[in-house]
Amino acid sequence: MKVGMVSLGCSKNLMDSEKIMGMLKKGGHQIVVDPKEADAIFVNTCGFIAPAKEEAINTVLEMSEYKQGNCKKLYMLGCMAQRYKAELEESLPEVDRVISIDEYDHIEEYLNEDLPDGSIPNWNDAERLVSTAKHTAYLKIAEGCGNFCSFCAIPLIRGRFISKTMEEILKEAKMLEERGSKELVLIAQDTTRYGIDLYRKYALADLLKELDKMNFKWIRILYMYPEAITHELVDTIAESKHVIPYFDIPLQSGNDRILKLMNRRNTSEEALEIINYIREKIPHAIFRTTFIAGFPTERKAEFNDTIRFAAKVRFDRLGAFPYSKEEGTKGAELKPEVAKKVRQARYDRLMQQQMVISSEKSAELIGKTLEVVVEGKEALSNKYKGRSIYNAPDDIDGYVYFRSNDNLTVGSFVNVKINKAYTYDLEGEQVD
Ligand code: SF4
Repeated sequence: MKVGMVSLGCSKNLMDSEKIMGMLKKGGHQIVVDPKEADAIFVNTCGFIAPAKEEAINTVLEMSEYKQGNCKKLYMLGCMAQRYKAELEESLPEVDRVISIDEYDHIEEYLNEDLPDGSIPNWNDAERLVSTAKHTAYLKIAEGCGNFCSFCAIPLIRGRFISKTMEEILKEAKMLEERGSKELVLIAQDTTRYGIDLYRKYALADLLKELDKMNFKWIRILYMYPEAITHELVDTIAESKHVIPYFDIPLQSGNDRILKLMNRRNTSEEALEIINYIREKIPHAIFRTTFIAGFPTERKAEFNDTIRFAAKVRFDRLGAFPYSKEEGTKGAELKPEVAKKVRQARYDRLMQQQMVISSEKSAELIGKTLEVVVEGKEALSNKYKGRSIYNAPDDIDGYVYFRSNDNLTVGSFVNVKINKAYTYDLEGEQVD
């Protein structure tokens, strides 16, 4: 049968989509891109915050339109399905099966029943069908999270933190290396916690030492937790050949009372200490973070601490979210809530300040030559589009646009001299 997959949400969810596509393909089904052609459509949803849930429902309803054509089966998977299975089964008759994450270990039983002309293997017997461009690939090193930040529903959805064994990860890394991936992006809900459950210690540094022996050009780590970033980890990154000094550390707040209410295990001073240690060891380190604006009970002066903290650190990239109340989380019980428009106003203030900082930091790169991986060519401008170590592949950090006299292939690495800078994007010329 022809099957289609729509993958919503984060890169961790994408990896589940890739695994299910791998199972379907190994089971003899054909993966199609155009939903019009599909006999069965899978929507892998995100259920993290309100906007994501809305997108999930809208996407499922949009895909259900194809049931007037070839599509016979519509499946809803992922975090939204995990969180609201019963409600979704009741409210969405268009969906043939709502399959929650904790059913993935026997999902083939349903699919082989529904999609008869194939024999889909079990989750553990199939390799993922990697869907990212050949030169870059995500590698999930652990599932779930036990940090229970009081604003976050992920522990309720994905369960407790479970590390993959070093052997499993290195085997999957080998598959990606052989596939030709040059950039390896390590992901988990909290990558810095890797190994604590299996090896009774933070083992990310050990894992990096093994991966650093392989033939990847860039090894990038996302979703680091400040309190679990050890000096050993920073030193390992500083001494490595391929691990890029890109520190993606969601910090959430710059005020200690709010950090405590968020159930975060660090103070703003401790976060600053590790950032300073990183900068001491790796002066050109790149920092990305995320803050929440308008967490319940947050006073204006306390949010000013976050604004001041962000101004002091001068992050290369900073994202923010107006607080979104998530039922079942501790944060949802906290009173008084901050008014919606105040949350938005605080978010706007922080992002306005950050746009200035990001523009200044981008401008500091003018005249510099950066190694860039080619992602494609812009039809209109005839410029190439690429990413440097400053730009993660999750479409948040901006791109490098550049001219070249050569006919470059996607996935090749070139040197680009930067001659123009915008808030997040850079422009330049290819140099040898
Ligand atoms: S670290 Fe906190 S915010 Fe991140 S997934 Fe875990 S509970 Fe959620």
